[in-house]
Amino acid sequence: MLAGVYTLSKTLFWFTNDLRLADNPALCQALARQTELSFVYCIDPGLFNAGRYHCRSLGSRRYRFIVEALEDLDARLQSRGQCLNVYYQNPLQVLARLCREHAVDKVFYSVQAGYNENMIIGELRERLPNTDFVGIHTHTLFSQGDLPFPLGELPATFSQFRRQLESRGNSVATPLPAPEFLGNPFIKSGIESRDWRARIPGPSASGETLFNGGETRGLRHLTEYFQHGYAQTYKATRNALDDPTASTRFSPWLAQGCISPRRVVSHLRRHEQDQGANESTYWIYFELLWREDFQWYARCHGRKLFRFQGLREHKPLTSFYPERFRQWCEGSTRFPVVNACMKQLNATGYMSNRGRQLVASCLVNELELDWRYGAAYFEEQLVDYDVASNWGNWQYLAGVGADPRGSRQFNLDKQTQTHDPEGDFIRRWGGAETCLEADSMDAVGWPLAPALNDRA
Ligand SMILES: Cc1cc2nc3c(=O)[nH]c(=O)nc-3n(C[C@H](O)[C@H](O)[C@H](O)COP(=O)(O)OP(=O)(O)OC[C@H]3O[C@@H](n4cnc5c(N)ncnc54)[C@H](O)[C@@H]3O)c2cc1C
Repeated sequence: MLAGVYTLSKTLFWFTNDLRLADNPALCQALARQTELSFVYCIDPGLFNAGRYHCRSLGSRRYRFIVEALEDLDARLQSRGQCLNVYYQNPLQVLARLCREHAVDKVFYSVQAGYNENMIIGELRERLPNTDFVGIHTHTLFSQGDLPFPLGELPATFSQFRRQLESRGNSVATPLPAPEFLGNPFIKSGIESRDWRARIPGPSASGETLFNGGETRGLRHLTEYFQHGYAQTYKATRNALDDPTASTRFSPWLAQGCISPRRVVSHLRRHEQDQGANESTYWIYFELLWREDFQWYARCHGRKLFRFQGLREHKPLTSFYPERFRQWCEGSTRFPVVNACMKQLNATGYMSNRGRQLVASCLVNELELDWRYGAAYFEEQLVDYDVASNWGNWQYLAGVGADPRGSRQFNLDKQTQTHDPEGDFIRRWGGAETCLEADSMDAVGWPLAPALNDRA
C-alpha cells in the first residue's frame, strides 16, 4: 500500500429473495467480515413490461407484498442503526455503480435459482473484477454441500430425491437468530425511492388482500398456524379449493424469503413435540421437500426450465390459440371449476395447489395450449410466485419435466365432484356464469355457426 493512502474494506449486502434478518446465513457471513456494511435492494422496472408471453414478470399484487416486505425490513434495519437502500433501477446498473463509487470489495447475496438472475450475477462478476461476489444458500432447507449427491446427479424423480434425503436422517440445520448489531453503513441514501408504493403499475389491484408482506407478518402467521393446531389435520384438508386454514399458506413469505424453510421446519418440530407428530405433520415436511426438489431442479437444469420441450428431446404437440388463452386467463372456458379457480387467482393472487393442478391440466390437455403461457400468466398473478416452484410444477404437469410418466391429465368432472360436491366454490366465484364454447372461429378465422359450435 502507498504511504499515506488508506483503504478500508467495504461490504455490500444485496437483498433479493431473502427479505429477512433472522436465519439469513448470507447476512451472518457478511457481518463476520466486520467491515463497513450497507444494504441494497433493486426494483427492476423491466419486470413490469409485458414479455414474450404477453405477461409481466411482476404484477401489482405481488409488488404490493414486496413493498410491504421492504418497509418491514427497513424498519428492522433502522432499529439496529442501519437502513435499506432501495433503487428503482436494473440491479446490474445499481450494483456496478455502487461498487465503483464506494470501492466495495465484497458483495454478499443469496444464491439464485433463476436463469436470468444468474446471468446478471455472471455479468456483474465480469464487469467488476475487483469485487468478490459471494453467493450463499438461504432459500433452501439444505445447502448444496449438504446434499447427498452432486448437483449434476440430482435424482430423476421426486421419490428418489426424497428417499435420498430422508435416508440421511432429516437433519435440517437450526435456524440462526436475527443479528442485533449490523455494523456501520457507508451508504445512507435509503430514501432514493421512498415512493415505492406510488410505483405500483397498472390498474390498482382490486379484490381481497390475503397476505401482507414482511418478516414480522410472516413469523406471526407461522406461529399462529401452529398454535391453532391446523397442522394436525393438514393431510386431510390440504386439497380444499377455498379454505384459508386447509393448507399452511406459508408460500408468499417463503417465496420472498420473509421466512426461511428451515424456520418452518423448526416450528413444525416444536409443534410435533408439543401436540404430537402424525401423518399430517409429516406431510407438511413432505411438501417442503417437493419445494426443495424444485429449487435444486431449477439450479441443475438452468435455461431448460423455460424450454417448450423442457428436459425432453421433442416439443409437445400443442400450439397457441389466443382466444382459448384469453378465456383461460379471465375464467370463461367451458369448465366451471377452472373458471372459478382463475377468477379466484385474478381476485386474490392465490390459488390452492389442487386448483393450480386443475387449471394447468386444462390449459395443456383440454385447451391444447403451450404450457409456458400458463406459467407466464401465473408468474404475473401469483403473490407466492417462485421461479423454481412455478416453472418446475408447470413442466411436471405438462409432461416435459424429469418425471418419466408424461403429462398429468385430471378428469375435471370427477375432480369437481370430489372437491366441490355442493358447488359452493364454483358459485362463490361465479365459475358457471361465464362458460363459453372453446372457439368462436375456425382455424382460418371463419366464425363458427352456433349449431356447429354446439356440436363441437
Ligand atoms: C402449476 C403450479 C404452479 C405453482 N407455482 C408455485 C409458485 O409459483 N410458488 C410456490 O410457492 N408454489 C407454487 N406451486 C406449488 C403449490 O401449489 C403452492 O406452494 C401451494 O399451493 C401454496 O399454498 P400453501 O403455502 O398453503 O401450501 P401447503 O400445502 O401448505 O404446503 C406447504 C409449503 O410447501 C411448499 N409446497 C407445497 N406444494 C408444493 C409444490 N407442488 N411445489 C413446490 N412447493 C410446494 C410450499 O412452499 C408451501 O408453502 C405451484 C403448483 C402448481 C401445480
